[in-house]
Amino acid sequence: MAKYFFRLDDISPNMNWENFYWLRELFKRHDAKPLLAVIPDNQDPELLKYPGNPDFWGIINELYHSGWVIAQHGYQHFYKTRDGGILNINLRSEFAGLDFQTQNYQIAAGKQILKEKSVDPKIFVAPSHSFDKNTLKTLAQNGFHYVSDGIALYPFKKRGLVWLPQIFWRPRKFAAGLITIALHPNTMSREDLTSFQNFIEKNKSKIGDFSELMRWHKKSGIFKKFFTFLANQVFKIVWWVFFKFKTQNAKVKSTS
Ligand SMILES: [Zn+2]
Repeated sequence: MAKYFFRLDDISPNMNWENFYWLRELFKRHDAKPLLAVIPDNQDPELLKYPGNPDFWGIINELYHSGWVIAQHGYQHFYKTRDGGILNINLRSEFAGLDFQTQNYQIAAGKQILKEKSVDPKIFVAPSHSFDKNTLKTLAQNGFHYVSDGIALYPFKKRGLVWLPQIFWRPRKFAAGLITIALHPNTMSREDLTSFQNFIEKNKSKIGDFSELMRWHKKSGIFKKFFTFLANQVFKIVWWVFFKFKTQNAKVKSTS
């Protein structure tokens, strides 16, 4: 049976607050606690077009204290390379292709901001899913335990970090797996919000708090890890075949 977890991307003082407040009320009403991918120092010209809110950190901290999980989403969300990184989903990155020292500076500076304003983050979310081996190395050295990314059905450990797979960008039913669905509140239309509300209402018993997903890998025995490893390998092949097929016909729009 599948279980669904939610991530809200591009959370920063400048965003589509109307959509964010709408989603916040929906999650609260259903007592679901998503992951907030917070940009420590937003410098992305596209995202700065949204209205700013001086009470941003107060709102984030209130949600954190009610059980929502805070992740670090890049550093400035400012793309510096055209490198798709390990996953190669989008050909742009704030990290992939940069040397270790530069990446280490960016990760540490972002973490420091979150620590001062809110909480010491343990999860990293790379803008546009783009990161490389240097990113993972510096994340482990800076005290991160998780990345919310990867093509798989169940969490797995690789290069010193637990990967919490993220495979869908809109609500979708699936037969099995621990599925993270990443939403972008900034660009959701009225129809997107309504269809998300319907999804939550229809799948209420299958919706988990993000902290449950974080505990899964640590709590699972070797037997369970082995079978989920096999399921992950099969799923990965199917996903990439589908992804390649899709990208041959249309440019992928999935971002983060
Ligand atoms: Zn993003």
